[in-house]
Amino acid sequence: MAGAVSRYGVDRETLAELLAGHPAYRVGQVWDGLHRRLLDPLAVTDLPLALRHRLHEQLPAALAPAGEAVTDGGATVKWLWRLHDGAQVETVLMHYGERTTVCVSSQAGCAMACGFCATGQAGFERNLAVGEIVEQVVRAARRARPHRLTNVVFMGMGEPLANYDRVWPALRRLHDDLGLSARHLTVSTIGVVPGIRRLAAEELPVNLAVSLHAANDADRDRLVPLNRRYPLERLMAACAHYVETTHRRLSFEWALIDAVNDRPGDAVELASLARPLRAHVNLIPLNPTPGYATPGTPADGVRAFCRRLRSLGVNATVRHNRGKGIDAACGQLRASLSGAGADAAHPARTVNLSPTRMASTRTSPAPTTPPGHTTERTSSPCTTAP
Ligand code: SF4
Repeated sequence: MAGAVSRYGVDRETLAELLAGHPAYRVGQVWDGLHRRLLDPLAVTDLPLALRHRLHEQLPAALAPAGEAVTDGGATVKWLWRLHDGAQVETVLMHYGERTTVCVSSQAGCAMACGFCATGQAGFERNLAVGEIVEQVVRAARRARPHRLTNVVFMGMGEPLANYDRVWPALRRLHDDLGLSARHLTVSTIGVVPGIRRLAAEELPVNLAVSLHAANDADRDRLVPLNRRYPLERLMAACAHYVETTHRRLSFEWALIDAVNDRPGDAVELASLARPLRAHVNLIPLNPTPGYATPGTPADGVRAFCRRLRSLGVNATVRHNRGKGIDAACGQLRASLSGAGADAAHPARTVNLSPTRMASTRTSPAPTTPPGHTTERTSSPCTTAP
């Protein structure tokens, strides 16, 4: 939200300036109300009514709902948000047993251009601001009640490490002010080596997930253009440095694509990268996207690939797509709510995606997303959940 003030975009000092003339303790009351109690300024009832109204006006929400869908019996909620400049991003909330996870976007669109990914196909719009990232988590935490939000994963739209200067302060805010522990915060990257090294130098050791998808440079160059800039040798060296420095578990994300990266030799190559780093491998059948014709690996092929990895000494798990009925991959909700040539001049419309319920308040152009970025692990390895 470059240039626009929002309630989670201001820091404590700016808030103190806004509250000049009020008793100093008001800063703490407002800050606590926003972050710990997850309240709208109007609902911070220990403030005078006039002040609540002023803060509500001066610190607007960054996210306006443009669409929402619920599926998996209420266990998955996906939002499409409209930002102050018309950009749109998605957030997904997933309940899974004891765990409640939100998957957040870090950019509107993405410049990494991975061919199989709808977000990459649509191109880059802009970086999200700190307040736009933090507010996604706050909205999800509110909605999660009475469950407590336990995990935040940066696996939505965009490449988080390409927006490092906003993603890192957002992570700090989630840790310092929303009270989420570092071991429950995960940053996913397609392989931005300088970002991984920068992350390793931070004092807060968050989890790192690397979207690998291919384990030799020739294949990865084709699937992930960034590999030409940061080939596997450099990427693996950065991963090793991250693990040594932070002692955090590393995971490799692998979107299984039929006859592209699900061959026995792919498992052998992947195992040779994962084993030395003791990396956990998450296997995700590729979500189909309009711009990439090759389908995901069928369920029996996914199980076979997983078993092969395990027989090679790799800790591997199959993840299943949450919210299939709501276009599980980030950007696909945006696609479902868009139409050819749709723009602000066209009327808002509602899209029903049985068996989900969905209401949209606006249409948008462009679809997108990272494969499996809105998935959760199944509890049993090498079996795909229904
Ligand atoms: S897979 Fe991730 S890094 Fe690649 S284009 Fe999609 S959002 Fe960007």
